[in-house]
Amino acid sequence: MKKTFLFVTALLGTLCLTAHAQRTLIHCGNLLNVKTGEVQRQMTLVLDKNKIAAVEQGYSRAATGDKVIDLKNKYVLPGLIDMHVHLESETRRGGSYDRYVQNPPDVAFQAAKYAKITLLAGFTTVRDLGGSGVNVALRNAVNKGLVEGPRIVTSGKSIASTGGHADPTNGYRKDLMGDPGPNEGVVNGVEDARKAVRQRYKDGADLIKITATGGVLSNAKDGQGPQFTEEEIRTIVETARDYGYLVAAHAHGAEGMKRAIRGGVQTIEHGTLMDDEAIELFKKHGTYYVPTIIAGRTAADSARIMGYYPPLVTPKALAIGPKSQATFAKAYKAGVKIAFGTDAGVYPHGYNAKEFEYMMEGGMSALEAIQAATLTNAMLLDMSDSIGTLEVGKLADIIAVDTNPLQDIKTLQKVSFVMKDGTVYKQP
Ligand SMILES: [Zn+2]
Repeated sequence: MKKTFLFVTALLGTLCLTAHAQRTLIHCGNLLNVKTGEVQRQMTLVLDKNKIAAVEQGYSRAATGDKVIDLKNKYVLPGLIDMHVHLESETRRGGSYDRYVQNPPDVAFQAAKYAKITLLAGFTTVRDLGGSGVNVALRNAVNKGLVEGPRIVTSGKSIASTGGHADPTNGYRKDLMGDPGPNEGVVNGVEDARKAVRQRYKDGADLIKITATGGVLSNAKDGQGPQFTEEEIRTIVETARDYGYLVAAHAHGAEGMKRAIRGGVQTIEHGTLMDDEAIELFKKHGTYYVPTIIAGRTAADSARIMGYYPPLVTPKALAIGPKSQATFAKAYKAGVKIAFGTDAGVYPHGYNAKEFEYMMEGGMSALEAIQAATLTNAMLLDMSDSIGTLEVGKLADIIAVDTNPLQDIKTLQKVSFVMKDGTVYKQP
């Protein structure tokens, strides 16, 4: 009896010591509550391992073994979330030839670099919307701690129709072109559509991405026409549901966008040429719009540089790219629900926070733009329990900047402190 008592006491003592030794106190000069926009002065975030254990007023005293992080002259807010990135690649002049010469390991090494850049820019969670499938391995490597990067939710390889925006052999010489099918993400008809979703599940994706219309950067003529039937989209959405998957749809033109919304997708990516009818459908179905303004603007700028894109791409980038910001302004004013996403890779990785500026130019307040990148995105990823705010029980995904982002949104482009899941990746 006495022995048991002593053993339990010793065990409890060890547990307490262990828990205590792993406490981290973050002294926050200014703590931004992204729900209310309130900036609380002199606060302490108490972390137990990778989670927020308490949010205390004043600078709490450290006990023996506590680690203290001094952010007394910073503005502290939750790690940012980007709903649309492509970590496998990055735009550059002539970069469209990369796919003919790169092997998966080449893609993997550069993806690791882009993942780290993204994390250090303050984006602690991202949704990767399409690559070769290396993005699935990248997510696993980050989760295992082999590569430093944001938490990744990935669609694996996008699903397209033959010749469509994510057909992997677009623009190839005929004998190399072949006839890719559902395994490669190319579908025609509902049977293919089901198989392609199931293949994504087998590949280890976290969600489904479809290219509902033509796109700007594929080596194909059309940048906006519909590329799926509504029946195909509906089948993809229904099959995805069996695996707990949501569907994100790339769409520039209005017709393909409408089919995707009616088909039940969760988000429309880009949404560049949405008309009034599409706006009404967004609102009716509660579909979210992921504007990627920075991608539209960057693609248009790049297209003005001789030889930057292949000849088929340049006119599309010039015609569609510049429209993204005006569309954003119109949709925002009309009350379409807006998430934060940038299409990183179409512009250089790490500049994701520039999008905040463009959203504000389109009429949003700084707080609304920040809420899109935290509260809204966490909700859309079904991760509101763990990320998006700095509250007790949430993961310690924490960033800090030098000035108040509500007054100076550009400060988010110079993040000086990054913690993800309780680990510090960048310090002042
Ligand atoms: Zn994209």
